[in-house]
Amino acid sequence: MKVHALKGGDKAQEHFDSIEKTDGCWPWPGWVVESGYGRAPLGANARPRYKYAHIWVYERVVGPISAGMQIDHLCHTEDLSCWGGFDCPHRRCVNPDHLEAVPQLTNIARQQWRVRRPTCSQGHEYAGDNLKIRKDGGRICIRCRYGDPDSNPRSASAA
Ligand SMILES: [Zn+2]
Ligand SMILES: [Zn+2]
Ligand SMILES: [Zn+2]
Repeated sequence: MKVHALKGGDKAQEHFDSIEKTDGCWPWPGWVVESGYGRAPLGANARPRYKYAHIWVYERVVGPISAGMQIDHLCHTEDLSCWGGFDCPHRRCVNPDHLEAVPQLTNIARQQWRVRRPTCSQGHEYAGDNLKIRKDGGRICIRCRYGDPDSNPRSASAA
């Protein structure tokens, strides 16, 4: 997505121009709050109101967000090494290509698997080749689902 101009006028263009538009994430260059999200000032008032920078960019580049929809960071969802939280580097990303409006339930499901335990009920680690993410954000343990390539039941019973 090539974006050069924003809807809205006021100081919006100035803020948008100050973003470094790389091939990857676009870290918000302005105020970033403790939780890791960028905050964008609204209007040109001396004491502006603020809103989340990624939502601000999405609304001005893509359009209004429908009721019941939330903006999800695709770069975070796709980075399985990121466990989220305040240290998540994706929260401040405002690249429109990394932002997707999804139903609230999808967003919650995508977030929940990260805060759940790091292993399946059999103690297999949800990581690397042993992890598959369902479309709704749930996790699948590959070993439980498709069998463990390392174990050989016959040799185990003979021992
Ligand atoms: Zn990103
Ligand atoms: Zn992240
Ligand atoms: Zn398992």
